[in-house]
Amino acid sequence: MLEPLPAVPPRASRTHCPDICVSFEFFPPKTDEMEKTLWESIKRLAPLGPSFVSVTYGAGGSTRERTHATVARILKETSIKPAAHLTCVAASRDEVDRVVRDYWDIGVRHIVALRGDCQDGNGWVPHPQGYKTSTELVAGIRRIGDFEISVSAYPERHPESKSVDADIDVLKAKIDAGATRAITQFFFENDVYLRYLDKVRAHGIHIPIVPGIVPVQNFNLTAGFAKKAGASIPQWLADRFEGLEEDVTTRRLIAATVTAEQVLDLVDHGIRDFHFYTMNRADLVYAICHLLGLRPKSEQKAA
Ligand code: FAD
Repeated sequence: MLEPLPAVPPRASRTHCPDICVSFEFFPPKTDEMEKTLWESIKRLAPLGPSFVSVTYGAGGSTRERTHATVARILKETSIKPAAHLTCVAASRDEVDRVVRDYWDIGVRHIVALRGDCQDGNGWVPHPQGYKTSTELVAGIRRIGDFEISVSAYPERHPESKSVDADIDVLKAKIDAGATRAITQFFFENDVYLRYLDKVRAHGIHIPIVPGIVPVQNFNLTAGFAKKAGASIPQWLADRFEGLEEDVTTRRLIAATVTAEQVLDLVDHGIRDFHFYTMNRADLVYAICHLLGLRPKSEQKAA
């Protein structure tokens, strides 16, 4: 006679997890049409009650102004908490400090502090009067106001770094300077993130290390980003999108499946916080949040 199989515990992702927290990342729009897409996305995602939405920051005056304008509009027209990304690229300390004070004055209380990259692609050269590292930037922001400060973390190490351990030392320095949360570079193998999390905790780091999730809307584009960012693309992921270059409908279904699989597996491993790189598009992220059990809250003021 066959032995009865041991009972399999229910998967956390199939039961209601009331403590799921999500945040969404957007980039500032360049054209009126992009602005429209962005605001449609914010309007759709806002009722899900994200803990914050962040707006990325580029080098150069006009992109900086666009970040500021987008953050200001989120503050004015929604009840979501915005987080402004800020880098120390090509700007003196005084210029960066002024941006930080301006954010404080309009009511921004959360900054995602990053070193950034020089635009010429020749490696990091700080501005002669600027913050030299993200750690210095975090300390500078902390001196100006009682901001919540998020920083980056790299489960597969930063491309300029010798090792994951060296990156963890930098993360520790950023926390000692005042960072309160880390958001990871995107990754596709959950093992990579979970092992990194173990290492980080073993180094005595206890702030949230929120996984950055990128829904693959366009495989070739994502593979290009991943190469620059030092994030690996597993062969199985390439295989899943193989031959779909001209088939947008199937590609979107595959993207939803791949992202759902990744996120639900992380929930099964006890992860409850997720930061979505939305690429300013709402549909896929909205569907994943629905799977995570999030439902629109009517009192959440959208755009
Ligand atoms: P850091 O944490 O500063 O580390 C960069 C490298 O320098 C690492 O190799 C680190 O080990 C090394 N390092 C740092 N400090 C020291 C030190 N004191 N001594 C020795 N080595 C050191 N870019 C943008 O331009 N705009 C954005 O809005 C933006 N948003 C991002 C959001 C997230 C969540 C992430 C993960 C990245 C983002 N980036 C953004 C990209 C980021 O600017 C680049 O990856 C950049 O190359 C590094 O900046 P950082 O603050 O992430 O790295």
